[in-house]
Amino acid sequence: MSRRPLRPLNEMSLTFPALSQNERFARLAVSGFLSQLDPSISELSDIKTAVSEAVTNAIVHGYRDAEGDVTLQVRIFDHDRVSIKIQDKGCGMEDVAQAMTPLYTTSPEEERAGLGFTIMETFMEKVKVKSKAGKGTTVILERTIQGKRRL
Ligand code: ATP
Ligand code: MG
Repeated sequence: MSRRPLRPLNEMSLTFPALSQNERFARLAVSGFLSQLDPSISELSDIKTAVSEAVTNAIVHGYRDAEGDVTLQVRIFDHDRVSIKIQDKGCGMEDVAQAMTPLYTTSPEEERAGLGFTIMETFMEKVKVKSKAGKGTTVILERTIQGKRRL
């Protein structure tokens, strides 16, 4: 098994206010940065969907009606491994395992389906979530890019 080098080959990070109009911006920023890996349309679409779910969660659940910033970091390792971190300093979660259960939502009145984490897990190889009530949440999404030329 090859070990992942500690230093990424390339990386970027962005910080933006928790506003719904920044969801699309975050998705497109990730897509633009990852274009250097020449991903297939379906790989890019999967990653954009997963990022969107995590960023939306930071905005609608993490901060609810409060103000605050969301940080997005994208790192590329080994030419094809992508790690994306979405971080908020909002309300956090008491029980991450329960939050990640399919169909679990704390906002049924807003017609949320409780499927955001399930979508992230479906479209990415690895989803890591760290959260502390009152402190905030960090979601790390990982996936290997096969790319158009290698398919
Ligand atoms: P959907 O994503 O289908 O619209 P949802 O957002 O409720 O619905 P998930 O994305 O799976 O479903 O999240 C499940 C629950 O986890 C949320 O209802 C919320 O209680 C909690 N949660 C998720 N992300 C965060 C976050 N960043 N901060 C605080 N709570 C969160
Ligand atoms: Mg959600």
